[in-house]
Amino acid sequence: TQQSLPKSRPGPNILANQSIRSPLKARANALWPLRKALPVWSHASEIRQGLRIKDIILLVGETGSGKSTQVPQILAGEPWCKSRPVTLENARQTVNVGGCIAITEPRRVAATTLARRVAEEMGTPLGSSSPASKVGYSVRFNNSTSPCTKIKFLTEGMFLQEMLRDPWLKQYSAVIVDEVHERGVNVDLILGFMRNIAAGRLEGRGGIPLKVAVMSATAEMERLGNFFEEGYVPSSNGVDPEENKSDGSESEWSGITSSDEERGTADSQGKQPDQLPHINEKQPKKSPHANGGQSEKSCAHVATCHIEGRQFPVTINYTPEPVQDFVNAALRTTFKIHYQEPMPGDVLVFLTGQETVESLESLVNEYALGMSRDVPKMLVLPLFAALPQAAQQRVFQPAPPRTRKIILATNIAETSVTVSGVRFVIDCGKAKIKQFRTRIGLDSLLVKSISKSAAIQRKGRAGREAAGQCYRLYTEQSYLDLEPSNTPEILRCDLSHAILTMKARGIDDIINFPFLDRPPREALEKALMQLYQLGALTDTGAISEIGQQMATLPLTVSLGRVLIAAAEPELDCVSEVIDIISCLSVENIFLNLTSEEKKEEAQLARRELYRREGDHLTLLMTVQAYAAENADRKAWAERHFVSHRAMQAVMDVRKQLRAQCQQSKSLKGKTPRQITPELATSLLKCFLKGFATNSARLMPDGSYKTIVGNQTVAIHPSSGLFGKKVEAIMYNEFVFTTKSYARGVSTVQMDWIGGALGV
Ligand code: ADP
Repeated sequence: TQQSLPKSRPGPNILANQSIRSPLKARANALWPLRKALPVWSHASEIRQGLRIKDIILLVGETGSGKSTQVPQILAGEPWCKSRPVTLENARQTVNVGGCIAITEPRRVAATTLARRVAEEMGTPLGSSSPASKVGYSVRFNNSTSPCTKIKFLTEGMFLQEMLRDPWLKQYSAVIVDEVHERGVNVDLILGFMRNIAAGRLEGRGGIPLKVAVMSATAEMERLGNFFEEGYVPSSNGVDPEENKSDGSESEWSGITSSDEERGTADSQGKQPDQLPHINEKQPKKSPHANGGQSEKSCAHVATCHIEGRQFPVTINYTPEPVQDFVNAALRTTFKIHYQEPMPGDVLVFLTGQETVESLESLVNEYALGMSRDVPKMLVLPLFAALPQAAQQRVFQPAPPRTRKIILATNIAETSVTVSGVRFVIDCGKAKIKQFRTRIGLDSLLVKSISKSAAIQRKGRAGREAAGQCYRLYTEQSYLDLEPSNTPEILRCDLSHAILTMKARGIDDIINFPFLDRPPREALEKALMQLYQLGALTDTGAISEIGQQMATLPLTVSLGRVLIAAAEPELDCVSEVIDIISCLSVENIFLNLTSEEKKEEAQLARRELYRREGDHLTLLMTVQAYAAENADRKAWAERHFVSHRAMQAVMDVRKQLRAQCQQSKSLKGKTPRQITPELATSLLKCFLKGFATNSARLMPDGSYKTIVGNQTVAIHPSSGLFGKKVEAIMYNEFVFTTKSYARGVSTVQMDWIGGALGV
């Protein structure tokens, strides 16, 4: 078998012999020298060999070393990465197993931009644009793949959805789990599932192993290594992988590849590990995810590879005093750099979220108008998760001559995407993070100080291509006081979606799931309670029909519940609910205005969109009016102080959700209806099915107190109901800035809340 393996990889250099007439191939050829220079290429054979001998490899390397773009390409030509027909024991049919590589990303912007870049590097069209495309992506509300897809970038959420449809991941030969250092809840679930699948439980894959690469920008190698080692169950052909090792380094890999090929068939005949009790009957009997994590034997079966960084020195500048208004400080620093520092050298500013990005964007643009002609131009480019794809893509394009790019980003740019040309970083030291607040029992978005490791990552973005500078908008002491690293999300967030995903996959024994960090029992119980309250779990804790449906929706459990409720005949408002949900999945569709004068002007212009029932209905009015505008949507948006950019993202989401509901027959293609009071009531009752616990009642003193937790909450100034006193409110989000605010608020009746809570 060894001879059958190619000695050198058919890298892009084979393109040199191909016709340069194809512009795609010519572009791929032009990119090859840049790729070859990336640090990861000096480890290419180590990575290939590592996965020939072992099923799991851990790769640690600096951001920008080429892990995300190159590793899938390095592995795609491997002998194990082929589709093979397999006759499954119980299926009595032949299915194709393997052939494709999945690579998971925490953010959609990374999944789509990486797929685009890799397609370009491989000289293949992207995604669904051509049936011959070899690179595709799947992100929430957008699946772009072809029958020939060989490398597929997925958000972690979409990957988990795929696991729901096919627990054995039959289309894949390998799964690359990227950006593990981000440690969102989903990646922790994926790691747990991968540990079980890669642990030799291969029955549902006809014995064909699934290779796993785990990649991280920060070294947590030892912990991850132990995690996978602990879960390892030796291949059931009885061969200890240790025996695969030969003693001479020269011939180190010989024989391994053959056993690798053989192992595929041997595994299926081997003994089957004991199953844990409580496996959901609906699931495949031998679900690969159902292992509670017990190890039968520990073996060194995890390969590791360190990719050294290529970092130039970065000078750090602190502020002498704490900064009160970081948007203003960032504005001043941006102009200071622009006036004082030589070109080229782009600026990357880290802010907290869409709102701060947009305020700084308008401020910089406003001040830039006053620059004299002999100063180079500025090109301000926002970068945040909810930005439409076309706008995200602009960040990667080179600036026009005599122009400095000013990229205003959220923590997306920390490690997820690498933008070349940056020499200056401005770090506000804060980020918006999701935090579970036990007292009120829900997640809220809080603006918090970043960790030291995040500050180091941000600084590092300035020294990728040459020496750079980092302006920290905080004092040195504040830096020293930062927490060393980010707390994994699973320890601080609502776990209901995670648990629903696990339940839908047949894992009933949640407590024994192999978590890299075990969430507190209290949080698990809270999430189980919420799922029960939403009707996703039955009295015995098993997943219900509603729960199964919720698990397949690309929405939070609450929004999923709302969408399912909308299809009930007595509520019957799927189309309108989709419109509202689409808006809620985009951070803010209304322009964030700073001056009082503009605010008043906007209020007047938006009067026709405003609904007294509250923000949910106002969003619906806005989407309907925007969608009905056939002449010039951009002008319409400007007239109404609505963000055209955000509305484009809303329309993207709306289209995808409508398609999904049409497929499941819950949406029957109705034209927009007039919003009558009856329809408004149905809509609000529908939202209460998912958000009854996000409600508050009016107290005699005029304040609002939450129904769950009895906590004071005020209506956020951004809400149309700001300052209004109504019997009760329901809200989409709980934010804590200077005090507790409810955002996305509508008026409801106490008896509706009671009905939704089943009391
Ligand atoms: P890592 O995963 O190690 O952070 P990547 O593979 O994402 O590294 O990036 C490697 C290099 O590829 C980057 O330094 C950048 O120069 C280039 N690159 C990545 N994505 C893009 C893109 N969308 N457009 C242009 N260049 C890109």
